[in-house]
Amino acid sequence: MTNDHAETPPSGLRIPAEPVPLSEVARFDHETDVLVVGFGCAGAAAAREAAAAGADVLVLERFSGPGGSTAQSGGEVYLGGGTRVQKACGFDDTPEDMYAYLHAALGPHVDEEKLRLYCEGGVEHFEWFRACGVPFQESLYGEPGWMAPTKDGLMWLGENAWPYDTLARPVPRGHRPPVEGFAGGLLMERLAAAATAAGARAHTDTRASALVVDASGRVAGVVARRFGEEVHYRARKGVVLTTGGFVDDEEMVSHHAPLLSGHGKVSDGGDDGSGIRMACALGAATRRMASVEAALIVMPEAACRGMLVNALGQRFINEDVYPGLFSHAALHQPAPWWVILDEEGFAAYSARNPTAMPPDHVAETLAELEEELGIPAGALETTVTTYNRHAALGEDALFHKNPKWLRELKAPFAAIDPRVLARLAENRREATGISGFTLGGLHTTVDGEVLHVTGRPIPGLYAAGRASAGIHGDGYVSGTSIGDGTFFGRRAGRAAAG
Ligand SMILES: Cc1cc2nc3c(=O)[nH]c(=O)nc-3n(C[C@H](O)[C@H](O)[C@H](O)COP(=O)(O)OP(=O)(O)OC[C@H]3O[C@@H](n4cnc5c(N)ncnc54)[C@H](O)[C@@H]3O)c2cc1C
Repeated sequence: MTNDHAETPPSGLRIPAEPVPLSEVARFDHETDVLVVGFGCAGAAAAREAAAAGADVLVLERFSGPGGSTAQSGGEVYLGGGTRVQKACGFDDTPEDMYAYLHAALGPHVDEEKLRLYCEGGVEHFEWFRACGVPFQESLYGEPGWMAPTKDGLMWLGENAWPYDTLARPVPRGHRPPVEGFAGGLLMERLAAAATAAGARAHTDTRASALVVDASGRVAGVVARRFGEEVHYRARKGVVLTTGGFVDDEEMVSHHAPLLSGHGKVSDGGDDGSGIRMACALGAATRRMASVEAALIVMPEAACRGMLVNALGQRFINEDVYPGLFSHAALHQPAPWWVILDEEGFAAYSARNPTAMPPDHVAETLAELEEELGIPAGALETTVTTYNRHAALGEDALFHKNPKWLRELKAPFAAIDPRVLARLAENRREATGISGFTLGGLHTTVDGEVLHVTGRPIPGLYAAGRASAGIHGDGYVSGTSIGDGTFFGRRAGRAAAG
């Protein structure tokens, strides 16, 4: 899965993405009805549905097997509206509540049409995963976290935090396969097997580099490279681009999503935006290219038990929101950021998380901690004093953190620095403590048709997953990338087959 035999260009150089006129293709090496480019979750979903609709389907994957970022992910899928797992765990849910939460948490500027369809189709999409062989245990993981360390099939993803608990009935919607921790491998294995079982074939070690276009402007195939050889693929009905996002292309990030510049990357290392560039070279429009997912490398439970502060020692959000949202908020705050805890908070957190690293700074007084962290004298003290005054009254008057996390913080104090863990994880000294991936991409209809900058669909060209713009506006909640990638991947596959 990690061997890229399809020739990675030297750093800084790109495979040209200019479309190739059909008249210049002397001979096609392979023909199919639907050609899917990229075998992650969106590609698997498109391939399965196109094959199930009776089309001959071929998937090109530049690595040595299916997987993409999906296989390395947490495997959480944001689903709701009353799935059997939600019901078994005692929760009533509706598409309207799901929509209200996601509209706020993924916003502002969500794609309302796509989001509406996604929420209305939540239960059916959950059953589709089950039909693909993805198992879900009917039990709830009730603690805050990026991921469940258990096999529970359901988890909260910020639905019970302010202000979202005032906008919609709080119901957990993070669905996940029964794996302790990262579950993306199992999820992807099952989706790839389901696509193959439906009849889709795959050519691995094959990197698509350009689209083939006929004289009418219709996409007719793809030029690819395999072990140094150029290979030409004819797609009789359509090409579906499911090549993932662009966080691994520094130039695209600095041009389109500069909020992530200099930060770490949440990807399999292959999110180089090649599909987006191939389609743009044909005049495709893009959307929401600046929208990003961000992950501040702190344990959400530690943040809940203490507080998150910026470089000025100020809190900036209720720490019990979905951690992607506090991370996104951090991106707009002066860096660096810390989790501030007291001894009791750290003891409670580490008792539940035996692998928790010791705090990076410990001090008897807040004045000492301020000096150690380089926070202006008195700033952190003011923050903690205000927090404690409100905690004593049982309310977080500034940010409305749930009272169950509120407690007066007492000396001695500790600080956790997200950069320390990030340096280890990313193996680079200048790690900022935040990493992320891109959410924007090709502008598509709800059926995956890629739109030209003029607004009309480009005939024969479809996209889904992070190669396209999905339901997201400025915000991100876990599970919505695999969620909308597969949901709209299925629609794109069906449309291409039709
Ligand atoms: C550590 C981690 C944890 C995550 N956790 C979650 C989570 O719990 N829930 C969630 O929803 N999201 C999560 N994400 C994000 C999510 O995994 C991705 O955004 C999503 O899987 C993208 O799906 P995709 O099908 O669009 O792309 P991918 O899964 O990346 O698949 C794209 C495929 O296309 C191939 N490809 C690219 N270019 C070409 C080309 N030119 N020719 C041929 N093949 C090509 C790639 O090799 C790759 O296999 C996580 C990501 C990571 C890295």
